[in-house]
Amino acid sequence: MRIVFLGAPGSGKGTQSQRLIERHGIPQVSTGDLLRAHVRDGTALGRRAKVVMDAGKLVDDATILGMVRERLAQPDAARGFILDGFPRTIPQADGLNTLLADIGQPLDVAILFNVDDDKLIKRISGRRSCAHCGQVFNIHNLPPAGPGSRCTQCGEPLQLMQRPDDNEATVRHRLAVYNEQTRPLIDYYRARGLLREIDADAAVDAVTARVEQILAPAG
Ligand code: AMP
Repeated sequence: MRIVFLGAPGSGKGTQSQRLIERHGIPQVSTGDLLRAHVRDGTALGRRAKVVMDAGKLVDDATILGMVRERLAQPDAARGFILDGFPRTIPQADGLNTLLADIGQPLDVAILFNVDDDKLIKRISGRRSCAHCGQVFNIHNLPPAGPGSRCTQCGEPLQLMQRPDDNEATVRHRLAVYNEQTRPLIDYYRARGLLREIDADAAVDAVTARVEQILAPAG
């Protein structure tokens, strides 16, 4: 199964990807995560990307495509993958088509996660993650606070972090960038008969059920 998850920041693509990894044994390829790993490791690419990411802008297409090409060549991607947060521009989508044609693995489906902008802003500004394992929480559904509070995923003492680009001003900019540069991909994939849509404002389990329903015919 080769899947693109399309949707604004905070629409739940990452959460649903995590669930599919477990159920279907295919990796999530998140260009945001790949870039954050470069930033953490202090690579030249990471130092360049950090400035762009902190401003809520997009990293250039050539850098992103190079990173994805390298990632999809790893053995774990041979049985399929979920592309999360990629492509984000028409040139990236064109580059992906070329790349997938080269490796003889065409895309099965592009799933669009629909959520209203005002809800996204609230969701993303409340987003926090465990400093140890990266598990994502929201200040509205945190594990109980206080001494002895532990991460429900890894069991380490709970220490929460906020992404530098998850503050409200940067989130508004990221949404504007999404609307301008990524939204055109909806028509792009619709025109190719690959687009399926989801109401991603529903409860997490309901969204998963809908994703699975879409994927069932894809096998
Ligand atoms: P994300 O974790 O997907 O929200 O991505 C965080 C940031 O990484 C974005 O705001 C961009 O600065 C950068 N980024 C991630 N994926 C891409 C992409 N496909 N194209 C350009 N920039 C990206």
